Amino acid sequence: MHDVVIVGAGPVGLFLACELGLAGRSVLVLERETEPGSPWRSFPLGMRGLSAGSVEAFHRRGLLSPLLAASGAPERPVPDQPAPPRSAGHFAGTPLDPADVDLARLPHRLPSPAVDGLMTSLEAVESVLAERAVKLGVEIRRGVAVTDVTQDGSAVVARAGEQEYPAKWLVGCDGGRSTVRRLAGFDFDGTEPRLTGYLALVTLADPGLLRPGFTPTPQGMYVTMSEPGHLGVLDFDGGTYDRTRPPTLEHLQSVLRRVSGTDATLTEVQFASSFTDRAKQVTTYRRGRVLLAGDAAHIHSPLGGQGLNLGLGDALNLGWKLAATVAGTAPAGLLDTYSAERHPVGERVLDWSRAQVAAMGPDPHARAVKSVLTDLLATRDGTTYVFERTSGTSLRYDLGSEEPLIGHNAPEFVLTDGTSLADLLQDGHGVALDFGGGLREVAQRYDDRIRYVAGPARDDLGFGAVLVRPDGIVAWAGGREPDRGAFEEAVRRWFFSVEAE
Ligand SMILES: Cc1cc2nc3c(=O)[nH]c(=O)nc-3n(C[C@H](O)[C@H](O)[C@H](O)COP(=O)(O)OP(=O)(O)OC[C@H]3O[C@@H](n4cnc5c(N)ncnc54)[C@H](O)[C@@H]3O)c2cc1C
Repeated sequence: MHDVVIVGAGPVGLFLACELGLAGRSVLVLERETEPGSPWRSFPLGMRGLSAGSVEAFHRRGLLSPLLAASGAPERPVPDQPAPPRSAGHFAGTPLDPADVDLARLPHRLPSPAVDGLMTSLEAVESVLAERAVKLGVEIRRGVAVTDVTQDGSAVVARAGEQEYPAKWLVGCDGGRSTVRRLAGFDFDGTEPRLTGYLALVTLADPGLLRPGFTPTPQGMYVTMSEPGHLGVLDFDGGTYDRTRPPTLEHLQSVLRRVSGTDATLTEVQFASSFTDRAKQVTTYRRGRVLLAGDAAHIHSPLGGQGLNLGLGDALNLGWKLAATVAGTAPAGLLDTYSAERHPVGERVLDWSRAQVAAMGPDPHARAVKSVLTDLLATRDGTTYVFERTSGTSLRYDLGSEEPLIGHNAPEFVLTDGTSLADLLQDGHGVALDFGGGLREVAQRYDDRIRYVAGPARDDLGFGAVLVRPDGIVAWAGGREPDRGAFEEAVRRWFFSVEAE
């Protein structure tokens, strides 16, 4: 029996597999498709934007260089100063100027190669993660479509036809139409669609008729991307289009003409698919021994490109908690903090995508909202707000502390000997950084659970010590004279099971 069976070798399933493999757990990934990669996962159709937060997660596991190479992006040297972002994205089709992001307002920022996002593809992300997972001992079995899941108090069994795959835990990372979600009886609540979106690779008789980039129109929006013929169209049809078959050339052309208000003519459609802005989320991410992560737990429109980032965040949050639970070293209730922490994050992303759709609608009320938003977004505060929400910078879990750094992604502290937090997080342990050295005696009691490092930092941002969870989140932070009792309490809260005592 495996410790964990993961259903789905998409980016989220593979990231989770790496996290569990890193912690030494036995992991089996079951994937329906027989081959990795497809035109929908490679460039240009599989193009995806990773947020700075996601890039940081790869960096902290030593995967940034392979990911940059697989994405055809140059290496990123560590800058001397926190650099301004190269892109600030868009809101409801209104592009934002990265020069308007107010860096002084972004909290606890230190120089790092991971302060900016990355344009990559699903194929690049999956190939890097699959290679790492296999190196860590994870078994990936392709061509296995899970059709049944049953569980009792001690185990869970996935079935594909006659074949059974028992495990202590099962995680459904099987995408927006998740079979695991349905079979395990999760409630999936949310809002119905207002639009149908199309993504296609086409040949246009006269590409000059369409404007470059995002063009909002009274009927919706069309987007022409950098690759010729790579086209997106949003049509406010109430989500009524029958999506059981790929859209035909005739249908795409008629929607494109209506939405763009042009006579654009398609001479060929190489690939076409559709999506909606249906926005739904499971009410809890765990039912017994079955958990969900990624699109299996939440779906929303791809506007603003956040689904992959949200899913990778789920995997990063869940990995170490599930690994400790399997090992019997997890404090009571640790696994349930996964749903408690990630559900609100998912909820905010769903609302973000709803807000964009609401502001893009064809009715006069939506146009009025959009006009007010466009004015607000042109301000420094407006741009910074959107950047904070979409880059992952504003992520903060409520860990019950008033200290703003606690619950926040840890800044990239670097010790004076050059060791960075990213170096220390590579093996997936929690890290205690003690800039003054006063916590050594306490920390040594827990050296099988956390990595303790003492020494001054190049810039300690005014902190004397920080305790960082394996997912890079600050669990506790102390001042120049850190409170040993509070530090020990935090270590025990996150890393020490009462049963193991
Ligand atoms: C047009 C478009 C653009 C997007 N752009 C962005 C972007 O820029 N940034 C961003 O963050 N997000 C973006 N997204 C969203 C992002 O692609 C998804 O959120 C992400 O791929 C979800 O990853 P996942 O691993 O949860 O699911 P998936 O990628 O769907 O992977 C699920 C895997 O499970 C497998 N599977 C399914 N059922 C079974 C079964 N029964 N048994 C075994 N295996 C099974 C599937 O074959 C698949 O490999 C975009 C989405 C679209 C449609």
